[in-house]
Amino acid sequence: MEFAKPLPAYLVTRYHGWKATSYEENKGWYRRLATEGQRPRAMVISCCDSRVHVTSIFGADQGEFFIHRNIANLVPPYQPDGDHHGTSATVEYAVTALQVSHLIVLGHSQCGGVQGCIDMCKGQAPQLEEKTSFVGRWMDILKPKFQLVQDIEDEEQQARQFERQSVVASLENLMTFPFIEEKVRDGSLSLHGLWTDIGEGGLECYDPNSDSFSQV
Ligand SMILES: [Zn+2]
Repeated sequence: MEFAKPLPAYLVTRYHGWKATSYEENKGWYRRLATEGQRPRAMVISCCDSRVHVTSIFGADQGEFFIHRNIANLVPPYQPDGDHHGTSATVEYAVTALQVSHLIVLGHSQCGGVQGCIDMCKGQAPQLEEKTSFVGRWMDILKPKFQLVQDIEDEEQQARQFERQSVVASLENLMTFPFIEEKVRDGSLSLHGLWTDIGEGGLECYDPNSDSFSQV
């Protein structure tokens, strides 16, 4: 593949720094992870957004979280149609092979994907309506939830609420996977919905009884 280039110098420098310090100090731990395999207790589905840092928020080490990131932390509905389903594949592996106990969906403030969906729902993003837009078609997953926030006049408030709804939509879609539904019902798997405020460092958890989010 003639288009692949050597790593940029700043990343080479950073790598050697990590190898000489963090890796060197924890070599035993890394070797154990390599030989004994991974046994994460939780899977996290978060947005790709570079500001979302789930391992920092929970002070997690290597081997603790099985993490999948995609635009707007969305899980599509169960659709076994023989096509390529990256998110569904990670969920299947975490639940059936790794047998994680917790499945956490983490949404966040100022989510560009969610904002794109709002623009699309308001007819302000024709480029996302194109059949060829992968982002647009991905954000279609969230579209049905727009009716819950369409009457919120303040645009900031509307976006923050819609971000929380992206978490609820994913939790609902997770339950359409038979292998998840079964484990949730027998108590061997629990689902959790979280939303983090990037600027304030806030963390909210979804409460199904009140159908709302409250500060952790
Ligand atoms: Zn996002």
